[in-house]
Amino acid sequence: MERIIGRKLIILDEAGSTNEYAKRIAQNVPEGTVVVAKRQTAGRGRKGRRWESPEGGLWLSVVLKPPRVDPRLVFVGALAVVDTLSNFGIHSGVKWPNDVWVSGRKIAGILAEGKAGEYAVLGIGLNVNNDVPEELGKMATSMREILGREVSLSEVFHTLVGNLDHWYGLFLNGRDGEIVSALKERSIILGKEVKIIDDETELVGRAVDIDVDGALVLETPGGRVRVLHGDVSLRFL
Ligand code: ADP
Repeated sequence: MERIIGRKLIILDEAGSTNEYAKRIAQNVPEGTVVVAKRQTAGRGRKGRRWESPEGGLWLSVVLKPPRVDPRLVFVGALAVVDTLSNFGIHSGVKWPNDVWVSGRKIAGILAEGKAGEYAVLGIGLNVNNDVPEELGKMATSMREILGREVSLSEVFHTLVGNLDHWYGLFLNGRDGEIVSALKERSIILGKEVKIIDDETELVGRAVDIDVDGALVLETPGGRVRVLHGDVSLRFL
């Protein structure tokens, strides 16, 4: 099958944010275009939170033109990262909805944005050989730290692009069940007590399931609650 992801590559020494760059060009480039920058000066997480992106890490965004946009697109990114780490001998898991963790520390984040009906941009930040920001202390890690050596950034890049192509292919073919069950298998939150933080509200409960729509099912004192992923943050208790 013809590859979609990586059909066109745009390689930059520096970008403010690869997601912003990808959104600007999205309407004029083919689906699967990948924008990768050696460093980002204004990398972002959700809600404008800063994403530290010094040289040595993998900071990329993919332009997608899916027939529908839903939370499972984020899962496509997370699963591709987990597989890539596994290809390099690192066991990781997904902290729903959009982070990848290794041994209790964040190694990657996924940020999906876009314009419904036109395009989606899937941004991935993966700590590879970069120093992890000091202020994050023991909250973050990198492939270099886990493996005790540097790895080839271009090998990680090509592996990730291949894995993205695989999972996005399933998404395009409507194989959502497989995406969600893979995500559940690789999830680090199921069975744990968590706190969900929305703008004004906090919800505490046990994470018991991720349903077919990609929503988290929480068991709370007041009964079962479905949490759609939107912009909520999840913390372990
Ligand atoms: P959250 O997981 O808190 O909902 P986001 O998905 O919005 O957060 O990601 C942004 C957060 O990720 C930042 O507030 C910071 O704590 C953390 N962070 C920033 N840069 C990095 C990095 N390079 N590696 C790991 N974590 C990072």
